[in-house]
Amino acid sequence: YAAKAVGDTHRRHTADLDDSADEQARLGAELRTALDTGQFRMVYQPIVELPCGRLRAVEALVRWDHPERGLISPDRFIPAAEHNGLIIELGEWILRTACTQAVEWQADWGPRAPQRISVNVSARQLAQPGFTAVVARALADTGLPVGKLTVEVTETAVFGGGQAVQTLNELHELGVRIALDDFGTGHSSLGLLQTVPVDVLKVDKSFVDNITMAGRHAVIATALIRVSEGLGLTAVAEGVETAEQAEELHRLGYQLAQGYHFGKPEAEPDFAAYAVREPASRP
Ligand code: C2E
Ligand code: MG
Ligand code: MG
Ligand code: MG
Repeated sequence: YAAKAVGDTHRRHTADLDDSADEQARLGAELRTALDTGQFRMVYQPIVELPCGRLRAVEALVRWDHPERGLISPDRFIPAAEHNGLIIELGEWILRTACTQAVEWQADWGPRAPQRISVNVSARQLAQPGFTAVVARALADTGLPVGKLTVEVTETAVFGGGQAVQTLNELHELGVRIALDDFGTGHSSLGLLQTVPVDVLKVDKSFVDNITMAGRHAVIATALIRVSEGLGLTAVAEGVETAEQAEELHRLGYQLAQGYHFGKPEAEPDFAAYAVREPASRP
């Protein structure tokens, strides 16, 4: 049925869009209609405990279910939405949809529901004056307790200027958790940990990819877990695709992981039907 097509496992393959500025502009021009006619969907990916695979949290990821092009990846349209400013409106829809979903899981699954939901926030949203109020209103309107929301930002977004750092301080003060996404791939990574209130380090997939072959990746992944421990942060290893990677990460001290090995992003209702089950009882 319809919702099924949105999950990555069942992803319809889209004719590859070329990267031309022209194509970006076309996508950008269609974003308004897409918002007005409800073409965006959320998918959810589990963040699990190592080594058991128990569900701990969820990352919400947006998809564009385009009537002609099929599913379009956020890497293609978030930049366009940032460029024309519609990310502000789309971002608020994403935040509210994710919070509403988290409240529903809590009602449906009780203690087995994911304990936290992560929402990605782009540079322009973070730079926007009044973003803290947008978040506070979304929490109040949906009834999601503030401690259950994590906001994921990249190092680039933090350096995006405007109100970014002040907003992070306000959000943290409010009780929202702050995660640094794709950590290690931006600039001034370590210095950032002194200037912004960070709770979670999401260690980028590139450091996980070759972790089972002793080498640079393993060294960096090891260093980053030590930094996390030392600063009292939570580390999440991103993009874990194999059991061997999961084992090695656990051996290095990682307690949380995310990746296709544990579950691909899926739309509801497939997500909860699968993820909320105990790992041992999953097919
Ligand atoms: P991200 O926040 O770092 O999200 C993780 C990306 O890695 C997701 O791609 C996810 O599907 C993918 N992934 C997860 N596990 C694996 C794995 O084991 N192997 C591989 N190869 N990939 C894996 P996705 O959903 O295409 O999103 C791409 C990026 O787009 C996100 O990176 C995030 O920066 C941005 N994005 C996604 N959803 C949103 C959103 O709602 N708002 C904003 N502002 N940005 C979003
Ligand atoms: Mg993210
Ligand atoms: Mg990431
Ligand atoms: Mg990423």
